[in-house]
Amino acid sequence: MVKLLPAIIRDALKTLVRALVGRPATIRYPEVEVKVPEGFRGRHWLDINKCVGCGLCARDCPTGAITMMTLTLASPDKGKKPRKVPVFDLSRCIFCYQCAESCPRGAIKPTKVFSMAAYDPHDLVLDFRPLLLSKREEREGQLSGQQDPHG
Ligand code: SF4
Ligand code: SF4
Repeated sequence: MVKLLPAIIRDALKTLVRALVGRPATIRYPEVEVKVPEGFRGRHWLDINKCVGCGLCARDCPTGAITMMTLTLASPDKGKKPRKVPVFDLSRCIFCYQCAESCPRGAIKPTKVFSMAAYDPHDLVLDFRPLLLSKREEREGQLSGQQDPHG
């Protein structure tokens, strides 16, 4: 132990000097904005217009974090199968992005959003269906708006 003492003191001094003159490895988050590097795999983004509901993302997800859910429309398209969309459970996700690799339409993309802490696991369910519904409502609203002048 006595033999080791000079080495320990030398190490401690080195650490002290590094801490005094070097830049800190941490930042004052959340006061200071974090610069997220390119290619960071944060929360998912689903381009609902590109998704065809094939379910390959759910099939290949290694943790079973994706469930294909049916989109229930108030006025379903006649003769068409009900549309399915992936819903992500981020509490099960390991952010491997196999889902994006498997998607033939490039509909899944990572965002730079990293702050996903939640008290309630339900808050970690990423469901884009309301987005599709609101788009449809908007479209139908526009269509009925176009028809109105002739009505
Ligand atoms: S990132 Fe990986 S674990 Fe998360 S949903 Fe996609 S395939 Fe599943
Ligand atoms: S693999 Fe792509 S197109 Fe198929 S359901 Fe998943 S997101 Fe949609």
